[in-house]
Amino acid sequence: MEAKDLTKLKKKLLAERERLLNTAASSRKNEFAISTEDLADEADLTSAELSQSVVFTLREKEHRTMADIDEALQRMEDGTYGLCEECDEEIGPRRLEIFPTARLCISHQEEEEKKKKFYIA
Ligand SMILES: [Zn+2]
Repeated sequence: MEAKDLTKLKKKLLAERERLLNTAASSRKNEFAISTEDLADEADLTSAELSQSVVFTLREKEHRTMADIDEALQRMEDGTYGLCEECDEEIGPRRLEIFPTARLCISHQEEEEKKKKFYIA
């Protein structure tokens, strides 16, 4: 991978990381607002519980994305970024542009997804 592509993707990852951090900070503030006096009656409690679980799911997703970004940044440091973890082939700049945190080449990614579907079914 060319250095300029790497720099571009690194910037993209860092910007996304920053955005996630900001989102996490503001959702914590909102959560605090819910958990004060609004929990008096049961209807409110249910919607608060609901939004708590939505917040949780979102946060879990954010958490995973954040971990993916950190891993990608680490791989950039190690010089293994852009190589498939299974076969060491280049993942390809076009794929990385869309999925900067991709760890697998397209054929291994497809295999992985097939496996996942198999386990779910
Ligand atoms: Zn591969």
